[in-house]
Amino acid sequence: MKTLQRTLTIIKPDAVKKNAVGDIIEQFEKQGFRILAMKMLEISQHQAEQFYAVHASRPFYSSLTKFMSSGPIVALALEKENAIADLRKLMGATNPASAEEGTIRKKWASDIENNAIHGSDADDTARFELSFFFAGYELAQ
Ligand code: UDP
Ligand code: MG
Repeated sequence: MKTLQRTLTIIKPDAVKKNAVGDIIEQFEKQGFRILAMKMLEISQHQAEQFYAVHASRPFYSSLTKFMSSGPIVALALEKENAIADLRKLMGATNPASAEEGTIRKKWASDIENNAIHGSDADDTARFELSFFFAGYELAQ
């Protein structure tokens, strides 16, 4: 059975600084993702800590949350069949050194932290992350 899924993606500060926003959004559209909502904003380190709370005990938490609050980001709510896994595939591996050809991280990521894009990794995290950035009324019908 085919079911539509929603996922949350963030174009990270490094990719915004590289003027990669248009290219990345074009790849979402070409791969059949429908954009339900989109906003450019800056978040504080405290907000980044809340968003990445699942990583609180990891050694990279402080550096990651500082990076995510270092400049503008673009958050998008995307919809597609199998959106969560398909977006993760389009993103490529966390470490761009391992990312496959044709992925967004292969093209735009600089290193394992400055890796251009975030994507939800499961149903429950997608729900939390979508509601972190968007209210229900902000999503396209
Ligand atoms: N990260 C890092 N060092 C690491 C692992 C991850 O700086 O060793 C950063 C990187 O920006 C990554 C984010 O923390 O995208 C979240 O890590 P996760 O393991 O969830 O990777 P993702 O789901 O983004 O591929
Ligand atoms: Mg993750």
